[in-house]
Amino acid sequence: MSDCLFCKIIHGEVPSAKVYEDDLCYAFDDIAPQSPVHFLVVPKEHIKSVSEITPENSGVVGHIFEVIAKLAKEKDLKSYRVVSNIGEQAGQSVLHLHFHVLSGRDMTWPPG
Ligand code: 5GP
Ligand code: ZN
Repeated sequence: MSDCLFCKIIHGEVPSAKVYEDDLCYAFDDIAPQSPVHFLVVPKEHIKSVSEITPENSGVVGHIFEVIAKLAKEKDLKSYRVVSNIGEQAGQSVLHLHFHVLSGRDMTWPPG
């Protein structure tokens, strides 16, 4: 989508600190990190949020979780959190599906 920030990042129209890329997904550091490690993994296909995952497009989600597991191993993350916010009340500010990967500090549960 032409007016989507993360589509622009994927296409290199907005700069980002790349963590990983393949045919299906792109990972980059969050611009406002909430922990010492905080990167985002997004599908290259524009999907608005978890609420728009269907049998037709869900394959990329499993792939993204494989990528997260691989990156976590490479970065030697012993403990981490994967978060996807859906909708305004949950805190979603960019309407392109993304998974936050957070690590490197103590975290509380439940989240605020
Ligand atoms: P959400 O609030 O939708 O769950 O997460 C969106 C995330 O995107 C936020 O953590 C925010 O800091 C990050 N973000 C917003 N704009 C940019 C940007 O231009 N570049 C990068 N790297 N991250 C961004
Ligand atoms: Zn998009």
